[in-house]
Amino acid sequence: MMFRRNHDGWVEVICGPMFSGKSEELIRRVTRSKIARIPVQTFKPRLDDRFSANEVVSHSSLRVEATPVATSDDLLRAIDDATEVVGIDEGQFFDQGLVEVVDQLAASGKQIIIAGLDTDYLRRPFEPISTLCDRAEVVNKMLAVCHKCGGPGMYTQRIVNSDDLVVLGAQGAYEARCRMCYDPEEPEQPELGLDAG
Ligand code: ADP
Ligand code: MG
Ligand code: ZN
Repeated sequence: MMFRRNHDGWVEVICGPMFSGKSEELIRRVTRSKIARIPVQTFKPRLDDRFSANEVVSHSSLRVEATPVATSDDLLRAIDDATEVVGIDEGQFFDQGLVEVVDQLAASGKQIIIAGLDTDYLRRPFEPISTLCDRAEVVNKMLAVCHKCGGPGMYTQRIVNSDDLVVLGAQGAYEARCRMCYDPEEPEQPELGLDAG
């Protein structure tokens, strides 16, 4: 009966470096669903409360209501049966269980849109986004504007010193950089007052 199956379920990833418009694009999609009165739920990891606890907010100050959840299990439990579209921002801050949760939601006919960093500041794959890219029907790779030269910003450059993988939303801690301007040796500089806000 292969032609009678429901193919509404769908996974889409919006990835790219910081400042590439991932949150903007996610907010645009979620907002369109709301306008169309399609039941939609939006989630974000609980650790990310840089701008607002109950909203996804882009660097350009677009915003949409979102539920903070601590784990992929919590996300799954928070899903309403009636929900047709699930938006997830900052997917790289979720546990690896997000991959199975997303698979399961898509298998049940929901459309999942996940935004997140595909690489960390050393250009290493950033899980679970990397695996989600492999599982998704559609992957949108976004480019930022290189903060240094204006070229195609593909990487996230850390510009302050830290041994932590995540320096969360520290003002001026990151820049988007193109292939030519990315320099993993660079963070030796102290905070340079490059703080663009
Ligand atoms: P992301 O979620 O990928 O970090 P956002 O959607 O929050 O990105 O923000 C994208 C917006 O950030 C752009 O529309 C623009 O207004 C602003 N912005 C600031 N710096 C840059 C940059 N270097 N390249 C592109 N957009 C930038
Ligand atoms: Mg974002
Ligand atoms: Zn550059």
